[in-house]
Amino acid sequence: MAAANLNIVPFVSVDHMMKLVLTIGVERFVTELAGYIEDDFLRWDVFDKTPRAASHSRDGVIELMPTSDGQLYGFKYVNGHPKNAKAGLQTVTAFGALADVGSGYPMLLTEMTILTALRTAATSALAAKFLAPKGARTMAIIGNGAQSEFQAIGFKALAGIDRLRLYDIDASASQRCARNLAGMGFDITLCRSGQDAVEGADIITTVTADKNFATILTDNMVGPGVHINGVGGDCPGKTELHKDILLRADIFVEFAPQTRIEGEIQQLPPDYPVTELWQVMTGAAPGRTSPQQVTLFDSVGFAVEDFSALRYVRDQLPATGLYQELDLLADPDEPRDLFGMLLRAAKKG
Ligand code: NAD
Repeated sequence: MAAANLNIVPFVSVDHMMKLVLTIGVERFVTELAGYIEDDFLRWDVFDKTPRAASHSRDGVIELMPTSDGQLYGFKYVNGHPKNAKAGLQTVTAFGALADVGSGYPMLLTEMTILTALRTAATSALAAKFLAPKGARTMAIIGNGAQSEFQAIGFKALAGIDRLRLYDIDASASQRCARNLAGMGFDITLCRSGQDAVEGADIITTVTADKNFATILTDNMVGPGVHINGVGGDCPGKTELHKDILLRADIFVEFAPQTRIEGEIQQLPPDYPVTELWQVMTGAAPGRTSPQQVTLFDSVGFAVEDFSALRYVRDQLPATGLYQELDLLADPDEPRDLFGMLLRAAKKG
C-alpha cells in the first residue's frame, strides 16, 4: 500500500469491496469483523461518543457518524429512505473514511453500503452470543430485504443458527433471500405471516423498513426465553415492536443516548433502565440470566462499529491490494504555497 505518500489515499470501491469480501469469504469476514467490534467495545471508555448527527426529511434521513479513539478518527455517511426500494434504489447507502489523528490526514476512503450490512450483522450476532438462549438454532427473520442474508450468515457464523423462518410482506423478497442462501447450510422455511415465522424460533430478527411506528411483533408473539434482534427501528418515529414487549424484556443497546432517540426505547420514558452491550462484554453487567428471560438487542447502529469496520478493511488492504490510489489531498512543494501550485498547473496547461 502507498503508505509512504500521505497525499495518496487508498480508496475501496464497491467492486473492490465485493472482491475483498469474496476473497476472504463472507462468514470469515463477519467473524473477523465481529472480533474487531468486540475489541473496540472492550475499550469503550477511550472513544469519543455522541449520538449521530441526523438530518431528517419527509422521506428519510441522512446521518453522519463520527468517533475517535485518540489515534484514529472515523466517520460514516449513511442514509435511510424506506421508499427508495419502490424506485429501484437502496434503502440504505453509505461511505466513510478513516483518518490519522496526529496529522489529521485521511488514510482510507471506502464504500460502506456492503460494509454496513456486514457490520450490522456482525454486531447483531455478537450481541446474540451473549444474549440468545443456550443451544439456539432457529431464527425468524421478518423483513427479507438487503440486510437479511447478511444477518442470516452472521448468526450462522457466530451464534449457531442453521434454521431460518422467513417472512416479508412481499413474498418475492423471502423467495430471493432463500435462493441467495441456498447451499449455505441453512434449513429454510418460507412463512405466510409474522405469527407463522416466530413459531418455534429461539431468536427473532426484525429488519423491516417503514417510516412509521409499525407493529411487526405484538406481545403475544414473543414466548418466554426468546432473544429479539430488533434492527429496523432505528430512527425517530420508526419502530417495529409493540411497547408491551419492551416492558417485558431486558433491553440491551449500543450507546444509550443515541438509542433513546432512535431505537425501540423511544417509546419508553427517558430514564427507563437499559444495559449497554459493552457492559455485558466486559462483565460489568449480566447478559442473559435465565432460560425464561426475554432479551432484546435494540440495534440502531453506532459509530464505534463503523470505526471497527474501517479498521478491519484498512488492515486487509496491504495483503490483497484491493484498492485504488486516490489523488485526494493537495500537496504543494512548499506547504504554504497552495496558490503557487495552482499557478504552476496553469502554466503547464
Ligand atoms: P430493504 O428496504 O432492503 O428491506 C426491507 C424489507 O422489509 C422489504 O423487503 C419490505 O418488503 C419488508 N417489510 C416492510 N414492512 C414489512 C412488514 N410490515 N412486515 C414484513 N416485512 C416488511 O431495507 P434493508 O436495507 O434490508 O434495511 C432494513 C431495515 O434495517 C431498515 O429499516 C434500515 O433502516 C435498518 N437498518 C438498521 C441498521 C442498524 O444498525 N440497526 C443497519 C442497516 C439498516
